[in-house]
Amino acid sequence: MTIYTGPVFDMAAQQFHVIADHLDIPDDERPRLLYPKRAIAVSCPIHRDDGTTAVYQGYRVQHHLTLGPTKGGTRFTPNLDIGEVAALAIWMSWKCALAGLPYGGAKGGVAIDPRAISHRELEAVSRRYMQEMIPFVGPHIDVMAPDMGTNEQVMAWFMDTYSMYQGHTVTEIVTGKPVASGGTEGRREATGRGIVFLAERALEARKIPMNGATAVIQGFGNVGSWAATTLAERGAKVIGVSDHTACYADRRGLDVAALVRHVTRTGALAGFSSELLAEPADLLATECDIAIPAALERVIDAPMAARLRCRVLAEGANGPTTPEADTILAQRPEIFVVPDILCNAGGVIVSYFEWVQDLQQFFWTEAEVRARLNQVLDRSFQAVMARATSDGIATRTAAQAIGVEKIRNAKNVRGLFP
Ligand code: NAD
Repeated sequence: MTIYTGPVFDMAAQQFHVIADHLDIPDDERPRLLYPKRAIAVSCPIHRDDGTTAVYQGYRVQHHLTLGPTKGGTRFTPNLDIGEVAALAIWMSWKCALAGLPYGGAKGGVAIDPRAISHRELEAVSRRYMQEMIPFVGPHIDVMAPDMGTNEQVMAWFMDTYSMYQGHTVTEIVTGKPVASGGTEGRREATGRGIVFLAERALEARKIPMNGATAVIQGFGNVGSWAATTLAERGAKVIGVSDHTACYADRRGLDVAALVRHVTRTGALAGFSSELLAEPADLLATECDIAIPAALERVIDAPMAARLRCRVLAEGANGPTTPEADTILAQRPEIFVVPDILCNAGGVIVSYFEWVQDLQQFFWTEAEVRARLNQVLDRSFQAVMARATSDGIATRTAAQAIGVEKIRNAKNVRGLFP
């Protein structure tokens, strides 16, 4: 079990034992629920533009196979390791189970900085990674999707590469594809829109109207920018945003459409304004109604949890809050935590819709996608709130307990082979 190391895996394991204690899961049953079923590590060699050869390390972790194929994003980030990928796969399992999707969790990626290579090199590494994974994935085995550092274009290359090897087009091998190549309407926006839908439910519980509410967002990629756009549409004021290049704040409300145009044109927030520049380390501690971490893991540690001045913490990123921070948040009931596996589930829910549409070759309108997404999110939100109240536990423990319990029940009724 020693290949799974590092702070992100340790965090997922720590959370698991909290849930296992809450559910009274016997010690001998725990490793079967915690440790991944499979982990694949590959080397991806490519020709660089300068004629040299470079080799990048790629991973895929499939957490459990009990409920159906595995499903999960693919991340291109420089310091990726298998412990982080395993933690993200575990969280995907709980997320899918909570939303009632027929999947186990998976995650994968390549240890590479996609911003430091050319478009041609990005295509080469994307295609080689998928080629290396062909023996281990399939529409009924493991279905990939985008995550940090990948996008619709990368998914189109994955789908094309897999299809070339099969000899026919297999759109259902990945989700998060462009609509032009078998993607679904509404996938690109789904995670950000889902976060805002749930943040609004949390505000309602606190009797705060969304119209005029203030929000800050860390991360302005797919998730952060769509959360910002949806907040602006709903009448909220986005008073702070950041990415890896810049942080801006304005209590009167930032011009979200202009920020999105700037990032679409230049690739990052840097250079948008010199007057609105702010300190990135203070962004999440801004006094506001909604704080949305939508970038990295573990950004809300114990000191940051003590500094938060939001009414709702809507977790767009996976694993943004450490267990030490959770201990502090437990003493701060004025902050309504919408935990990651509930809050950012919009992405995998619409990925599931995309997979279903591809398998049936029968496509839905954007209005149908949105209505069904809201239905699933609403059901999950109510289940988490009911469980948190009945068991007297934090929303995170409630969400994770529902996920783990569903997987455990499925394993127990299937039995242990042979
Ligand atoms: P992305 O690559 O599109 O964007 C990532 C953003 O984070 C970029 O704006 C980047 O500049 C920013 N960032 C990186 N380092 C930062 C730092 N130190 N400080 C501030 N910002 C920083 O990725 P994404 O798809 O938007 O994913 C963001 C998070 O949401 C990840 O945790 C991912 O796992 C999670 N998530 C994504 C989806 C999805 O559908 N894409 C679904 C569920 C969860």
